[in-house]
Amino acid sequence: MKLELRNAAFSYEKGKPLLENISLTAYSGEAWAILGKNGIGKTTLLRCLLGFRRWTSGGLYLDGKPADPASAGGRRFWRRAAYVPQAGRQAFPCTVEENVLLGRGAYLGLFGQPGRRDIEAAEKAMAMAGVLGIRGKNCGEISGGQLQMTLIARALASEPELLIMDEPETGLDFRNQLMVLGLIRKLAHERNLLVIFNTHYPEHALDTADRTLLFLENGRALSGPTEEVLTGENMRAAFGVEVVRAEAEYRGKTLVSLIPAGFREEGENG
Ligand code: ADP
Repeated sequence: MKLELRNAAFSYEKGKPLLENISLTAYSGEAWAILGKNGIGKTTLLRCLLGFRRWTSGGLYLDGKPADPASAGGRRFWRRAAYVPQAGRQAFPCTVEENVLLGRGAYLGLFGQPGRRDIEAAEKAMAMAGVLGIRGKNCGEISGGQLQMTLIARALASEPELLIMDEPETGLDFRNQLMVLGLIRKLAHERNLLVIFNTHYPEHALDTADRTLLFLENGRALSGPTEEVLTGENMRAAFGVEVVRAEAEYRGKTLVSLIPAGFREEGENG
């Protein structure tokens, strides 16, 4: 899959653009992170991408052809794409397995009973997300990490080529963060999915995302290889803070951290 945003723009109110000229080109096998300060439009970008909101101009192209998930032909998009919402604290009056089977919705008729093929796909997805062992548990009784993994399994049950995730590791402890990030890498690099996720953590982008879209001020964004995008200068422009870069070696791998060190001096631009 080749996913492009071409000069995509969006505003909630006429004359007050929120997103302007957003462009990116992403391919199967890549993990993409979206970073930017609170209220800059990250969730809105995902909503537009999924067709919950309409672009004001420009928009989405899949494999070179215009795609509109909100149109009558949107079912085609949803056969290829899946969305993982923020886990939050909703109550789910169903088991893990039932929840994951909901991900087969695009394949079931209205009130259709899941067949053998659906159960197999759900089992494969639960195994991938590490929740097969708790398939019979009630979603109201599992931990936040297990719930997040269940929501990922639900998305994977539809066997998507494109996985869009809204802050998948927010609110999780260290161990669960590593599990979610490891799964993102595996899905992109071993299963050839295109994975796009919003995150507040530059370390997670540096560790997991091949490419990053970073929102700057005024509705504009930069995109490219994560290391090239998440520079001190760009972080300063995006978040209004000075960052210090720290590196550590772990099992032959270099871990990079960007530590927020202080506020950008008043009067400085970008
Ligand atoms: P982020 O995810 O980066 O924190 P959002 O995309 O949620 O940002 O919001 C971007 C901006 O759009 C915010 O200023 C927010 O108040 C505004 N906004 C979000 N949803 C709506 C809406 N339904 N109507 C009008 N403004 C909205």
